[in-house]
Amino acid sequence: MGDNAREKKSVISRAREIIDNYQGKEIRIMEVCGTHTHEIFRLGLRQILPPPIRLISGPGCPVCVTPVSFIDEAVILATDHNVTICTFGDLVRVPGSGLIPTEAGDGTSGGKPAFRKIPASLAAARAAGARIQVVYAPQDAVAYAKEHPEEAVVFLSVGFETTTPTACLAVQEAQREGLSNFSILTANKTMPAAYEAMRGSMDAFLYPGHVHAITGTSICEQLAARGTSGVVAGFTAKELLTAIAVIVKRTEEGKPFFENCYPRVVRPEGSPAAQKLVDEMMEPCDARWRGIGVLPASGMKLREKYAAYDARIKYALPRIEGRENPACRCGEVLQGKCLPSDCGVFGRGCTPEHPVGACMVSGEGACSAFYLYGKDL
Ligand code: SF4
Repeated sequence: MGDNAREKKSVISRAREIIDNYQGKEIRIMEVCGTHTHEIFRLGLRQILPPPIRLISGPGCPVCVTPVSFIDEAVILATDHNVTICTFGDLVRVPGSGLIPTEAGDGTSGGKPAFRKIPASLAAARAAGARIQVVYAPQDAVAYAKEHPEEAVVFLSVGFETTTPTACLAVQEAQREGLSNFSILTANKTMPAAYEAMRGSMDAFLYPGHVHAITGTSICEQLAARGTSGVVAGFTAKELLTAIAVIVKRTEEGKPFFENCYPRVVRPEGSPAAQKLVDEMMEPCDARWRGIGVLPASGMKLREKYAAYDARIKYALPRIEGRENPACRCGEVLQGKCLPSDCGVFGRGCTPEHPVGACMVSGEGACSAFYLYGKDL
């Protein structure tokens, strides 16, 4: 065994010792990152924790928190406006409302409800003849728009601080190339409002390493100063176990805390270049989170000078409320209020092959993790 392997093993052993010997009060640790959720399940970390340490999944999966109204908007663009939708694959199967008001507003006309049917997902729209292209990065959508000047192309821009800079770069590229057939439909979100909304549902956050590599750690330090504890964590077994062990030790000290347990990637100042890019091109807006509702200033939209690239403005999209399937408890799952296995349709009416809610569709969703790695956890 080499020195590195020996050192890694001894770090893991020390972390395990702290965790295994913990017998104090309950500690609820909320991960707010879909990648953390899946790594925790894949590595079997939940099974090795003693009963007082509970891991809770929070609103960290970008596809899961994207509201049903966003899917409806994308379907309307694809069907009513003959737009080519370029999107990450997960969004294609996320269920939409399937029924929307015929007029902007509450779906009433002359006192009577007035609704019309639309395809219930982008997959259904594609089956009905709409052009839906799966891409792996926003730049792929720009390339598609360049290669197909006869088509109007909209990229579905979802995600947190980690992915928003790439959407900005795509708009910059489209502008540089003089593409008038490219725009983005934004559902980009920022984490601080979600942290605020989840305070009280947990005892410590397992902060997402990728997000804080962009934003830095000042928000975590501010939250600690206001009584909310947490650690930034990486994604390997060693990093996750270390982060949990640090939470255990610091909780025993009895004071709110913050620690950066992912210093090889996360610096206190984050990425000033990415922050500058986003600040120059986007501004905060109120945003709806699936099952949680509207969180003030928790979204990002293009600034007015980039309005030509904002699909909502370009196509004058009506405001849509969206209607979630009443059987789906994604909203509660995303807030750590229930387990996926508490949902009445989990594993029966709702499976990865036939998802009822976004948390079962996305590769980062808690329901798909439970389904893949064991619902009895
Ligand atoms: S199991 Fe399916 S329907 Fe139930 S909360 Fe999860 S995604 Fe929604």
